[in-house]
Parts: sequence; structure tokens; C-alpha cells
Amino acid sequence: MSKPPDDFDAIRLLMVFNRATPWYLEIIGFKSYCRPVLSEPMLIADQSANSGWRHRLSEMEIPITVGRDSTLSRTLKGVIRGRRITADEGIVLHNHNSFAGLCALADMIKRSRYGDHVFFNDNLHINPTNICTLACRFCAFRKGLRHHESYALSPEEFVSRIESCGTSIDEVHAVGGLHPQWTINHYAEIFRSIKARFPGIHIKSLTAVEIKHIAIRSGLSIRETLGALKEAGLGSLPGGGAEILVDSVRDRICRGKELSEEYLEIHGTAHSLGIPTNCTMLFGTVEEIVDRMTHLDTLRIQQDASGGFQCFVPYPFLPDKARLPEARLASANEIIRVIATSRIMLDNIPHIKAYRMNLGDALASIAINSGADDIDGTVGHEEIMHEAGSTTRSDFSERELARLVISSGLVPVKRDSTYSSLRIIGENERTNILQPLASPV
Ligand code: SF4
Repeated sequence: MSKPPDDFDAIRLLMVFNRATPWYLEIIGFKSYCRPVLSEPMLIADQSANSGWRHRLSEMEIPITVGRDSTLSRTLKGVIRGRRITADEGIVLHNHNSFAGLCALADMIKRSRYGDHVFFNDNLHINPTNICTLACRFCAFRKGLRHHESYALSPEEFVSRIESCGTSIDEVHAVGGLHPQWTINHYAEIFRSIKARFPGIHIKSLTAVEIKHIAIRSGLSIRETLGALKEAGLGSLPGGGAEILVDSVRDRICRGKELSEEYLEIHGTAHSLGIPTNCTMLFGTVEEIVDRMTHLDTLRIQQDASGGFQCFVPYPFLPDKARLPEARLASANEIIRVIATSRIMLDNIPHIKAYRMNLGDALASIAINSGADDIDGTVGHEEIMHEAGSTTRSDFSERELARLVISSGLVPVKRDSTYSSLRIIGENERTNILQPLASPV
């Protein structure tokens, strides 16, 4: 982030305290603050690890910050029994006076699913164009067609961006503006060219509003558009553009974008075609806490219906002097609260991502101790968040990213785009890379 929020250090201290080693806490008389411990060794985390997570949760040691708090312990019991946390209860959790307890509960749930593991992948972000027919009020990325900094990559230019790292990355992540002239042919050609040159690379591309725009420009239905793009090589949708799935909020921050119902319909159609997707939430603009909880509840209902969300990616609005001056920015404390509450509420979406391009590495390292289990990827190049003020390094190697996870007290697991191929970074490798980060923020 361009400017770390002022409560950042306090949060870091709290998290260090919550995660301190048991022997140390015994000495100072706070043994039950220790990190939740599983009664059995955790298996490598994959989808099958999710099936018994409530049972594992029931067997975990309960931190004192959770056990001695009536709201949190009641929530824990409810989660173990399979009871859904309502949006109203989500508000209470989000605002709960024990920040440490809220994070400890979310961390318990994360650990019941994945133990110490935190996932990342080797990916490359490419933005095919910054030209956009819309003008969302939070967006620092879009340019008009005739703006001197506008650009639009040809399929050849797009593929040439992959050349230098094509053998090391697993995934291309591509989202961009709504180009007024491009139809489905442009994207299908890009995807086919990537697959012809790098057949093993997974293509995660296009937000719901891009799909809608391409469908309209091409005279196709959403289903036909997604089907044709899948045929051309599209592997999954990244989930961007959900913002807040409350239309009165959307009307204020991104008028003209797809409605909440359309976002859900496009993702549901993708799921029905066997295209997995992520889902996101942009918070800290003009929404109320109740809108955030409505958003989580809405995603949960959609997941019950269509089942294809792999990962939820919450990220805060990064401000500058020009965009959304009335935004009620989220502090670092609030960002971690959102991530923790998401983990507790979203019982049917397996992964919660700490998107380091937006959060920054230091806050991401706290987030993966507060409910998040994924820290995204090596990224390679990123424009959307950096245009908005992010200073997070986008040139991390796999080794540097693993080091970030290890320095957070956790175990890095390299994944593919669908979490179906997983590799724990081994002990030797961990020993070799267990050095402090030169530049942790
Ligand atoms: S957020 Fe996306 S749709 Fe909105 S203006 Fe920016 S590029 Fe265009």
C-alpha cells in the first residue's frame, strides 16, 4: 500500500502475541493464548481436506481469547455444528471488541481446513488494454480511447509478454478495460495463441463485466460467449468486479457496470459450464458494514446454487486525491477484520486470499494468520493496483514468496490454478530460504 495505516504496528504486535510459541506463553502465564493445535497431524491441504474440517475444528485447543468470550465461543460452537453465521451476526463479529479473539477464531477455522499451509502460485499478470468504455469512480487504471497513455495489446504483443517466463509460470492472469472495438475474436485469438505456444499454462482471465461487454459486442449470449472462450483455452475467471453486491452502492461507485444479479448470473453460468471462478469484494469506498455482510451472504447463497467459487478475494480501496474523495477508507485493523469475518461466514467457499498486490506484504503476512490461506502469486507485472498507489513488489521469485510465508510462521505450498496440484516447499528448501525478508513491506 502506498501509505501503511497508522494502526499497523499495533496489529502486528497483537498478531505476534497471538502466535507466540507455547513455551514462551507458559512462562509469562498466558498458555491458553497459544496458537490452536490440531490433535492429529494435518494432511496436505486439498479439497478433500475440507470434508472433515468441522470435526477437526471440534478437536482443536481453544485459545483463551475465543473460549472466554461468549460471542466468539457461541460462534465457534455454531460453526462446529454446521450452523450458518447470519449477516447480522457477521456485523457483530466484524465489530467485535476483541480483535485478537476474532482473528484467533478465524485462524482456527483456517487451520481446521489447511493446518499451517498457505498456498501460492507462479503466475504472470497481463492487462490486455487500459482503454475502457466505463469510468468506475474508484478506478485509477482506465483510460479513454484517445488518452496519450492508453494502450491495447495485439495477440502477438500479448503472447510476447509471456516469452521470458513461459517455462516457469503456471498461470496467466489477464483482466483489462472494456475496449470499444474488440469482440470475442480478439480474446479467442489471444487464448489460442497462448495455448499453441505454452500448452501447460492455465488462462485465468476476464471479469464478469468484460464477459458481458464481449457478449454484447459479439451478439452472443453469456453462455455462448463463455462456451466459445472455454473452447479457445479459457480456464477460469478471476472474479474481479464484484465490488459490493448491493446495487445502491454500485450505483454510487461504478454506475453502468453489471448489476449484482448479472455478476452472479455470469459466474453461475461459468460454473455450469465447468469453468471455476473466484469472487471478490472491494471495500472501504462508500459502503456500510451491513453492505459487506450482505455481499458475503449473497456469495454464499450463489455458491450453494452453483458451487464453482474457488476462492474469495477481499481487498480495500486504495485512495489518492482524485478518486472517491468521500470514501470511508478501511484501516489495517478493519482490513484484517474483514478477512477474519469472511473466513467465519463463508463456510462453503474453500479459499480466502490475502491479495498482496493490494494489501502489501506486511499486512498479507498478518492476514494469513487471521483466516486467509492463500497469498496469490509471483505476479511478475501488475498495473491495476499499482496505478492506484500500491508499492508491493510484483517481481517476487517463487523462493521469495515462500520466504514471506515462512517468515509468517507458516508452510508455503505451491499450487496450480485449481488447487489440484500441490507441492509443499520442503524442509531443506525452507532451511535454505529461512532468511528475513530484505524488504518486508
Ligand atoms: S474498474 Fe474495470 S470496468 Fe470499471 S472503469 Fe476500471 S477498467 Fe473499466
